[in-house]
Amino acid sequence: MERTNRSRDIRQFDLDDLKELMKELRQPAFRAKQLYEWVHEKNVCSFDEMTNLPAGLRQSLTETFAFKVPTELVKQVSKDGSRKYLLEFSDGVSVETVGMPNRNKLAVCISSQAGCAMGCAFCATGLAGLSRSLTAQEMVDQVLHVSRDFGERVTSVVFMGQGEPFANFDNTVEALRMLNDPEGLAIGARHLTVSTCGVIPGIRRFAELPEQFTLAISLHSAIQTTRNQLMPGVKKFTLLRLHEAIQEYVEKTGRRPTYEFAMIDGINDTNPEMQALVDFCAGTLCHVNLIQLNDIPDSPFRPSPIEKVEALQRRLTMHGVETTIRNSRGGDIDAACGQLKQRRFRAR
Ligand code: SF4
Repeated sequence: MERTNRSRDIRQFDLDDLKELMKELRQPAFRAKQLYEWVHEKNVCSFDEMTNLPAGLRQSLTETFAFKVPTELVKQVSKDGSRKYLLEFSDGVSVETVGMPNRNKLAVCISSQAGCAMGCAFCATGLAGLSRSLTAQEMVDQVLHVSRDFGERVTSVVFMGQGEPFANFDNTVEALRMLNDPEGLAIGARHLTVSTCGVIPGIRRFAELPEQFTLAISLHSAIQTTRNQLMPGVKKFTLLRLHEAIQEYVEKTGRRPTYEFAMIDGINDTNPEMQALVDFCAGTLCHVNLIQLNDIPDSPFRPSPIEKVEALQRRLTMHGVETTIRNSRGGDIDAACGQLKQRRFRAR
């Protein structure tokens, strides 16, 4: 094992690697477990915090290994308690992450990519394009950052920030497994939700996973022309094929997918749009989350009035489709995906 590279992140070591490392350092084997617990269960980010390790060992680890945790560039705190962060990784790319406390729970919304190639018309991130995909550790680091900042255990995670998780499928699944690991953060699989804008091959692969992770699909319109306009990146995955793929997913997993529907004034809140959504969902196993679009400066899109959101909920409920109206968290901060980053760069 190579130990001389100080830029190597100690968090890349699993328990077996640490055992080997301790052997090399002529330390008793139980130190490996202690070190593992500090790094992966207590989530510390310096060797100094590992108080049950001898000072000499801590010193030698400090000289040899790094903790590449992201740097917090910006934090905004909303009146509703949610906190939005702009976090920078060691190569200078940054992503947005949101922590949303609710009673004794703490939900975190993380990014799976820095930027996004999908180009959704209503999304600040989509307008800026893709920088790169994140590693699994970088996704987990966002969760750890929020947990440390709130001083609380994270109870659920949604992959709904910047990026299309299924365009970074393998790293997303690795991150899900790290978050789910009983030796690590131990977040239940059903409390880990991946949101895709409808990448069909990803939905099919997701259905093959043995874990009970939750799937959400950003639908935003059940009329093809409107969806093409709003979400050009998934044009080739037509609504007809998407519907089929989701039904296959349901049959295979028995799990209920969620449709996210951001309501946009005059675009997807008209009568035909509402009816198309009812037709898409009725008689299938699903849950619909309705949310008023976040108001993005310089965007031609505006949120639908709440009356329209309620009308759509009534209509879906009447046809037996379970529907929730979600509050837009952090309405007083730059809560919409990509806004915080944009504002920071605009202000430069
Ligand atoms: S809404 Fe999501 S998928 Fe669409 S451009 Fe924004 S980050 Fe990408």
